[in-house]
Amino acid sequence: MSIRKSTGIVRNLDKVGRIVLPKELRKSFCIADGETDIDIWMENDEIILAPIPKQCKICKAEDDLHEINGSLLCRNCIQTIQKFHMP
Ligand SMILES: [Zn+2]
Repeated sequence: MSIRKSTGIVRNLDKVGRIVLPKELRKSFCIADGETDIDIWMENDEIILAPIPKQCKICKAEDDLHEINGSLLCRNCIQTIQKFHMP
């Protein structure tokens, strides 16, 4: 069950429809500037922004991630792939 809580923060959209998420909110939700994708949801008459956690491209794990050729992989999947390529 989600708990709705007002931040008390009000922002204006700029001329091309952008808003800036306040730094304190980005910090609270561990949103890394320029690195976090945000999922945009509609619920009744509301817009919900949800940070998408970084995940392993193969198993969806969120810990111990490493970027390889632009894809995030966890250590376990990297080790599994390495086993297939070992003679
Ligand atoms: Zn994985």
